[in-house]
Amino acid sequence: MRIAEMLTRGRPTVSFEFMAPRDEDEVAAVEKTVAALAGHAPDWVSVTYRKTTGQKTLELVTRIKRQYHIEAMAHLTCANTADETRPILNWMEREGVANVLALRGDPPGPGEAFVPADPQFQHGSDLVAFLRRSGYRFGIGAACSAEKHPESPDQGHEFRYMQLKVDSGADFLITQLFFDNRFYFDLVRRAREAGIAIPIVPGLMPVPSRRSLAFMAAMTGATVRPDLARAIEEAPDDDAVRALGVRHCIEQCVELLEAGVPGLHFYTFNRARAPMEILASLRGHATCATVLAHAPVRSGPLLVSPSAELASAPICTTTPAEPG
Ligand SMILES: Cc1cc2nc3c(=O)[nH]c(=O)nc-3n(C[C@H](O)[C@H](O)[C@H](O)COP(=O)(O)OP(=O)(O)OC[C@H]3O[C@@H](n4cnc5c(N)ncnc54)[C@H](O)[C@@H]3O)c2cc1C
Repeated sequence: MRIAEMLTRGRPTVSFEFMAPRDEDEVAAVEKTVAALAGHAPDWVSVTYRKTTGQKTLELVTRIKRQYHIEAMAHLTCANTADETRPILNWMEREGVANVLALRGDPPGPGEAFVPADPQFQHGSDLVAFLRRSGYRFGIGAACSAEKHPESPDQGHEFRYMQLKVDSGADFLITQLFFDNRFYFDLVRRAREAGIAIPIVPGLMPVPSRRSLAFMAAMTGATVRPDLARAIEEAPDDDAVRALGVRHCIEQCVELLEAGVPGLHFYTFNRARAPMEILASLRGHATCATVLAHAPVRSGPLLVSPSAELASAPICTTTPAEPG
Protein backbone atom coordinates (compact mmCIF):
# COMPACT_ATOMS: atom_id res chain seq x y z
CA MET A 1 0.00 0.00 0.00
CA ARG A 2 1.20 3.50 -0.69
CA ILE A 3 2.30 5.31 2.43
CA ALA A 4 0.78 8.58 1.21
CA GLU A 5 -2.63 6.89 1.40
CA MET A 6 -2.04 5.85 4.99
CA LEU A 7 -0.97 9.38 5.85
CA THR A 8 -4.21 10.88 4.59
CA ARG A 9 -6.73 8.44 5.99
CA GLY A 10 -7.30 10.44 9.15
CA ARG A 11 -5.39 8.59 11.85
CA PRO A 12 -1.75 9.48 12.47
CA THR A 13 0.56 6.66 11.46
CA VAL A 14 3.37 5.33 13.64
CA SER A 15 6.51 4.36 11.75
CA PHE A 16 10.03 3.26 12.60
CA GLU A 17 13.21 3.76 10.65
CA PHE A 18 15.78 0.96 10.83
CA MET A 19 19.38 1.19 9.75
CA ALA A 20 20.36 -1.49 7.27
CA PRO A 21 22.88 -3.87 8.83
CA ARG A 22 26.44 -3.17 7.73
CA ASP A 23 27.50 -6.82 7.78
CA GLU A 24 26.31 -10.31 8.67
CA ASP A 25 27.21 -9.75 12.34
CA GLU A 26 24.69 -6.92 12.59
CA VAL A 27 21.84 -8.81 10.93
CA ALA A 28 20.73 -10.65 14.07
CA ALA A 29 20.78 -7.46 16.18
CA VAL A 30 18.73 -5.52 13.63
CA GLU A 31 16.24 -8.37 13.31
CA LYS A 32 15.79 -8.45 17.08
CA THR A 33 14.95 -4.74 17.04
CA VAL A 34 12.58 -5.21 14.11
CA ALA A 35 10.84 -8.09 15.90
CA ALA A 36 10.46 -6.08 19.12
CA LEU A 37 9.04 -3.05 17.33
CA ALA A 38 6.87 -5.07 14.94
CA GLY A 39 4.97 -6.12 18.07
CA HIS A 40 3.99 -2.48 18.52
CA ALA A 41 2.01 -2.57 15.29
CA PRO A 42 3.63 0.21 13.26
CA ASP A 43 1.64 1.30 10.22
CA TRP A 44 4.82 1.24 8.15
CA VAL A 45 8.57 1.15 8.57
CA SER A 46 11.58 2.13 6.49
CA VAL A 47 15.14 0.90 6.02
CA THR A 48 18.12 3.18 5.34
CA TYR A 49 20.39 2.86 2.32
CA ARG A 50 24.15 3.06 1.86
CA LYS A 51 25.81 2.05 -1.39
CA THR A 52 28.02 -0.44 0.46
CA THR A 53 25.06 -2.11 2.19
CA GLY A 54 22.40 -1.65 -0.49
CA GLN A 55 21.72 -5.37 -0.79
CA LYS A 56 21.03 -5.58 2.94
CA THR A 57 18.46 -2.77 2.65
CA LEU A 58 16.59 -4.66 -0.04
CA GLU A 59 16.75 -7.94 1.85
CA LEU A 60 15.50 -6.42 5.09
CA VAL A 61 12.65 -4.54 3.41
CA THR A 62 11.34 -7.67 1.71
CA ARG A 63 11.79 -9.76 4.84
CA ILE A 64 9.78 -7.29 6.94
CA LYS A 65 7.01 -7.26 4.34
CA ARG A 66 6.83 -11.05 4.12
CA GLN A 67 7.40 -11.98 7.74
CA TYR A 68 5.45 -9.27 9.54
CA HIS A 69 3.09 -8.06 6.79
CA ILE A 70 4.12 -4.50 7.56
CA GLU A 71 4.54 -2.02 4.71
CA ALA A 72 8.28 -1.43 4.47
CA MET A 73 9.77 1.39 2.45
CA ALA A 74 13.26 1.22 0.98
CA HIS A 75 15.46 4.31 1.11
CA LEU A 76 17.49 5.00 -2.01
CA THR A 77 20.18 7.63 -2.52
CA CYS A 78 22.18 9.31 -5.28
CA ALA A 79 25.10 7.03 -4.44
CA ASN A 80 24.55 5.15 -7.73
CA THR A 81 24.54 6.09 -11.39
CA ALA A 82 21.28 5.98 -13.35
CA ASP A 83 22.40 2.68 -14.91
CA GLU A 84 23.01 1.20 -11.46
CA THR A 85 19.75 2.62 -10.10
CA ARG A 86 17.44 1.09 -12.71
CA PRO A 87 18.16 -2.58 -11.80
CA ILE A 88 17.68 -1.75 -8.11
CA LEU A 89 14.28 -0.25 -8.84
CA ASN A 90 13.34 -3.13 -11.12
CA TRP A 91 14.24 -5.56 -8.35
CA MET A 92 12.14 -3.60 -5.84
CA GLU A 93 9.18 -3.58 -8.20
CA ARG A 94 9.47 -7.33 -8.75
CA GLU A 95 9.65 -7.96 -5.01
CA GLY A 96 6.53 -5.89 -4.33
CA VAL A 97 8.17 -2.91 -2.66
CA ALA A 98 5.51 -0.21 -2.90
CA ASN A 99 7.31 2.86 -1.55
CA VAL A 100 10.74 4.42 -2.03
CA LEU A 101 12.30 7.29 -0.06
CA ALA A 102 14.34 9.20 -2.64
CA LEU A 103 17.31 10.97 -1.07
CA ARG A 104 20.57 12.55 -2.04
CA GLY A 105 22.41 10.71 0.74
CA ASP A 106 24.62 11.70 3.63
CA PRO A 107 28.07 13.17 3.02
CA PRO A 108 30.89 11.05 4.49
CA GLY A 109 30.92 13.19 7.67
CA PRO A 110 29.82 16.56 9.10
CA GLY A 111 31.19 19.43 6.99
CA GLU A 112 32.33 17.12 4.16
CA ALA A 113 31.00 17.28 0.61
CA PHE A 114 28.64 14.74 -0.93
CA VAL A 115 30.03 13.51 -4.25
CA PRO A 116 27.31 12.26 -6.62
CA ALA A 117 27.99 9.12 -8.63
CA ASP A 118 26.19 10.52 -11.66
CA PRO A 119 26.00 14.19 -12.71
CA GLN A 120 22.26 13.76 -13.30
CA PHE A 121 21.75 12.78 -9.62
CA GLN A 122 23.02 15.77 -7.66
CA HIS A 123 20.07 16.17 -5.31
CA GLY A 124 17.12 14.36 -3.81
CA SER A 125 14.80 16.08 -6.27
CA ASP A 126 16.77 14.55 -9.20
CA LEU A 127 16.07 11.05 -7.91
CA VAL A 128 12.40 11.90 -7.30
CA ALA A 129 12.10 13.18 -10.88
CA PHE A 130 13.90 10.11 -12.26
CA LEU A 131 11.52 7.78 -10.42
CA ARG A 132 8.50 9.66 -11.75
CA ARG A 133 9.57 9.98 -15.37
CA SER A 134 10.81 6.37 -15.60
CA GLY A 135 7.28 5.09 -15.15
CA TYR A 136 7.73 3.22 -11.87
CA ARG A 137 4.59 2.95 -9.78
CA PHE A 138 6.19 3.42 -6.38
CA GLY A 139 4.83 5.80 -3.80
CA ILE A 140 7.62 8.36 -3.48
CA GLY A 141 8.77 9.97 -0.27
CA ALA A 142 11.46 12.64 0.10
CA ALA A 143 13.34 14.28 2.95
CA CYS A 144 13.04 17.84 4.16
CA SER A 145 14.52 19.87 6.98
CA ALA A 146 12.38 21.49 9.66
CA GLU A 147 15.43 23.66 10.27
CA LYS A 148 18.08 24.79 7.83
CA HIS A 149 20.08 21.96 6.26
CA PRO A 150 23.76 22.41 7.25
CA GLU A 151 24.69 23.03 3.59
CA SER A 152 21.97 25.62 2.96
CA PRO A 153 22.80 29.30 3.10
CA ASP A 154 19.34 30.11 4.49
CA GLN A 155 15.79 28.86 5.06
CA GLY A 156 14.62 30.33 1.75
CA HIS A 157 17.10 28.16 -0.17
CA GLU A 158 16.00 25.12 1.81
CA PHE A 159 12.33 25.80 1.20
CA ARG A 160 12.81 26.38 -2.54
CA TYR A 161 14.39 22.98 -3.01
CA MET A 162 11.84 21.26 -0.82
CA GLN A 163 9.23 22.69 -3.17
CA LEU A 164 11.20 21.32 -6.13
CA LYS A 165 10.94 17.79 -4.67
CA VAL A 166 7.19 18.21 -4.42
CA ASP A 167 6.97 19.60 -7.96
CA SER A 168 9.14 16.69 -9.16
CA GLY A 169 6.60 14.20 -7.86
CA ALA A 170 7.10 13.41 -4.17
CA ASP A 171 3.92 12.10 -2.51
CA PHE A 172 4.98 12.90 1.02
CA LEU A 173 7.88 14.35 3.00
CA ILE A 174 9.63 13.23 6.18
CA THR A 175 11.51 15.83 8.15
CA GLN A 176 15.00 15.55 9.45
CA LEU A 177 15.02 15.19 13.24
CA PHE A 178 14.31 18.27 15.37
CA PHE A 179 14.01 18.91 19.09
CA ASP A 180 11.82 21.99 19.04
CA ASN A 181 8.35 21.55 17.53
CA ARG A 182 8.15 25.22 16.59
CA PHE A 183 10.45 24.54 13.64
CA TYR A 184 8.08 21.86 12.37
CA PHE A 185 4.94 23.93 12.86
CA ASP A 186 6.58 26.83 11.07
CA LEU A 187 7.65 24.63 8.15
CA VAL A 188 4.15 23.17 7.74
CA ARG A 189 2.54 26.60 7.95
CA ARG A 190 4.87 27.96 5.25
CA ALA A 191 4.35 24.90 3.10
CA ARG A 192 0.56 25.18 3.26
CA GLU A 193 0.76 28.90 2.48
CA ALA A 194 2.87 28.06 -0.56
CA GLY A 195 0.27 25.56 -1.73
CA ILE A 196 2.19 22.40 -0.79
CA ALA A 197 -0.58 20.03 0.25
CA ILE A 198 1.24 16.71 0.66
CA PRO A 199 1.71 15.19 4.14
CA ILE A 200 4.82 16.29 6.05
CA VAL A 201 5.71 13.66 8.63
CA PRO A 202 7.78 14.77 11.62
CA GLY A 203 10.95 12.72 12.15
CA LEU A 204 11.83 12.21 15.81
CA MET A 205 14.90 10.99 17.61
CA PRO A 206 14.87 10.24 21.31
CA VAL A 207 18.37 11.32 22.38
CA PRO A 208 20.30 8.09 23.06
CA SER A 209 23.52 9.57 24.49
CA ARG A 210 25.53 12.79 24.65
CA ARG A 211 27.85 11.55 21.91
CA SER A 212 25.06 10.64 19.49
CA LEU A 213 23.35 13.95 20.14
CA ALA A 214 26.50 15.92 19.31
CA PHE A 215 27.07 13.89 16.13
CA MET A 216 23.48 14.06 14.90
CA ALA A 217 23.18 17.78 15.67
CA ALA A 218 26.32 18.40 13.57
CA MET A 219 25.09 16.18 10.71
CA THR A 220 21.58 17.59 10.57
CA GLY A 221 21.88 21.16 11.85
CA ALA A 222 19.19 20.47 14.49
CA THR A 223 19.05 23.04 17.28
CA VAL A 224 19.14 21.64 20.78
CA ARG A 225 16.96 23.87 22.95
CA PRO A 226 18.95 25.47 25.79
CA ASP A 227 16.78 23.85 28.49
CA LEU A 228 17.29 20.41 26.96
CA ALA A 229 21.01 21.02 26.41
CA ARG A 230 21.42 22.09 30.04
CA ALA A 231 19.48 19.11 31.40
CA ILE A 232 21.56 16.73 29.30
CA GLU A 233 24.77 18.42 30.37
CA GLU A 234 23.82 18.10 34.03
CA ALA A 235 22.56 14.50 33.80
CA PRO A 236 24.63 12.29 36.12
CA ASP A 237 25.07 9.33 33.75
CA ASP A 238 24.10 7.76 30.40
CA ASP A 239 20.89 6.27 31.78
CA ALA A 240 19.77 9.68 32.93
CA VAL A 241 20.56 11.15 29.47
CA ARG A 242 18.54 8.42 27.79
CA ALA A 243 15.61 8.94 30.18
CA LEU A 244 15.69 12.68 29.45
CA GLY A 245 15.72 11.95 25.73
CA VAL A 246 12.66 9.73 26.04
CA ARG A 247 10.79 12.23 28.17
CA HIS A 248 11.56 15.09 25.80
CA CYS A 249 10.44 13.02 22.81
CA ILE A 250 7.18 12.13 24.57
CA GLU A 251 6.52 15.83 25.12
CA GLN A 252 7.20 16.50 21.44
CA CYS A 253 4.88 13.66 20.37
CA VAL A 254 2.01 14.77 22.60
CA GLU A 255 2.15 18.27 21.17
CA LEU A 256 2.48 17.01 17.60
CA LEU A 257 -0.43 14.57 17.92
CA GLU A 258 -2.61 17.22 19.47
CA ALA A 259 -1.76 19.47 16.52
CA GLY A 260 -2.98 16.87 14.00
CA VAL A 261 0.22 15.55 12.44
CA PRO A 262 -0.19 12.87 9.74
CA GLY A 263 2.18 10.53 11.56
CA LEU A 264 5.15 10.10 13.89
CA HIS A 265 8.32 8.73 12.33
CA PHE A 266 10.91 7.48 14.82
CA TYR A 267 14.60 7.29 13.99
CA THR A 268 15.36 4.16 16.01
CA PHE A 269 19.10 3.76 15.31
CA ASN A 270 18.19 0.11 15.72
CA ARG A 271 17.33 0.47 19.37
CA ALA A 272 13.84 -0.64 20.36
CA ARG A 273 13.67 0.44 23.96
CA ALA A 274 13.15 4.20 23.61
CA PRO A 275 10.41 4.02 20.92
CA MET A 276 8.66 1.31 22.96
CA GLU A 277 8.71 3.48 26.07
CA ILE A 278 7.45 6.47 24.11
CA LEU A 279 4.57 4.56 22.54
CA ALA A 280 3.59 2.98 25.85
CA SER A 281 3.47 6.44 27.36
CA LEU A 282 1.43 7.88 24.50
CA ARG A 283 -1.02 5.00 24.65
CA GLY A 284 -1.48 5.71 28.35
CA HIS A 285 -2.13 9.38 27.68
CA ALA A 286 -5.80 10.36 27.58
CA THR A 287 -5.71 12.42 24.37
CA CYS A 288 -2.96 10.61 22.47
CA ALA A 289 -4.39 7.13 23.08
CA THR A 290 -7.61 8.14 21.34
CA VAL A 291 -5.82 9.86 18.48
CA LEU A 292 -3.46 6.96 17.87
CA ALA A 293 -6.12 4.27 18.11
CA HIS A 294 -9.16 5.50 16.23
CA ALA A 295 -9.33 9.17 15.44
CA PRO A 296 -12.19 10.41 13.26
CA VAL A 297 -11.27 11.21 9.66
CA ARG A 298 -10.08 14.78 9.31
CA SER A 299 -11.17 16.55 6.19
CA GLY A 300 -9.55 19.97 6.49
CA PRO A 301 -5.90 20.85 6.01
CA LEU A 302 -3.60 19.35 8.59
CA LEU A 303 -3.51 21.44 11.67
CA VAL A 304 -0.27 23.25 12.28
CA SER A 305 -0.25 24.91 15.67
CA PRO A 306 -0.60 23.36 19.12
CA SER A 307 -3.39 24.33 21.46
CA ALA A 308 -2.64 26.47 24.49
CA GLU A 309 -3.97 23.77 26.84
CA LEU A 310 -1.52 21.31 25.43
CA ALA A 311 1.49 23.39 26.32
CA SER A 312 0.64 22.98 30.00
CA ALA A 313 -0.85 19.47 29.84
CA PRO A 314 0.86 16.87 32.03
CA ILE A 315 2.46 13.99 30.19
CA CYS A 316 2.31 10.37 31.12
CA THR A 317 5.71 8.82 31.57
CA THR A 318 4.98 5.17 32.20
CA THR A 319 7.87 3.01 31.09
CA PRO A 320 7.41 -0.66 30.29
CA ALA A 321 10.01 -3.13 31.45
CA GLU A 322 10.87 -4.52 28.01
CA PRO A 323 14.41 -3.57 27.03
CA GLY A 324 15.18 -3.44 23.35
C1 LIG B 1 13.84 10.76 6.63
C2 LIG B 1 15.30 10.74 6.24
C3 LIG B 1 15.89 9.54 5.88
C4 LIG B 1 17.23 9.50 5.50
N1 LIG B 1 17.79 8.31 5.11
C5 LIG B 1 19.06 8.28 4.62
C6 LIG B 1 19.63 7.08 4.08
O1 LIG B 1 18.99 6.03 4.07
N2 LIG B 1 20.89 7.13 3.59
C7 LIG B 1 21.63 8.30 3.59
O2 LIG B 1 22.79 8.29 3.12
N3 LIG B 1 21.12 9.45 4.09
C8 LIG B 1 19.86 9.46 4.60
N4 LIG B 1 19.31 10.63 5.08
C9 LIG B 1 20.17 11.82 5.16
C10 LIG B 1 20.06 12.67 3.92
O3 LIG B 1 20.60 11.98 2.82
C11 LIG B 1 20.85 13.92 4.24
O4 LIG B 1 20.13 14.69 5.17
C12 LIG B 1 21.21 14.74 3.06
O5 LIG B 1 22.14 15.73 3.50
C13 LIG B 1 20.04 15.44 2.44
O6 LIG B 1 19.25 14.61 1.67
P1 LIG B 1 18.16 15.25 0.71
O7 LIG B 1 17.58 14.17 -0.08
O8 LIG B 1 17.26 16.16 1.47
O9 LIG B 1 19.15 16.12 -0.16
P2 LIG B 1 18.95 17.38 -1.08
O10 LIG B 1 17.53 17.66 -1.34
O11 LIG B 1 19.82 17.17 -2.24
O12 LIG B 1 19.49 18.57 -0.16
C14 LIG B 1 20.85 18.67 0.23
C15 LIG B 1 21.25 20.16 0.19
O13 LIG B 1 21.23 20.65 -1.16
C16 LIG B 1 20.27 21.70 -1.31
N5 LIG B 1 19.62 21.50 -2.60
C17 LIG B 1 18.64 20.62 -2.90
N6 LIG B 1 18.34 20.67 -4.21
C18 LIG B 1 19.16 21.61 -4.75
C19 LIG B 1 19.33 22.12 -6.07
N7 LIG B 1 18.61 21.65 -7.09
N8 LIG B 1 20.28 23.06 -6.27
C20 LIG B 1 21.03 23.55 -5.24
N9 LIG B 1 20.89 23.10 -3.97
C21 LIG B 1 19.97 22.15 -3.73
C22 LIG B 1 19.35 21.59 -0.12
O14 LIG B 1 18.78 22.83 0.22
C23 LIG B 1 20.31 21.06 0.96
O15 LIG B 1 21.06 22.11 1.50
C24 LIG B 1 18.00 10.70 5.50
C25 LIG B 1 17.40 11.92 5.88
C26 LIG B 1 16.07 11.95 6.24
C27 LIG B 1 15.43 13.26 6.62
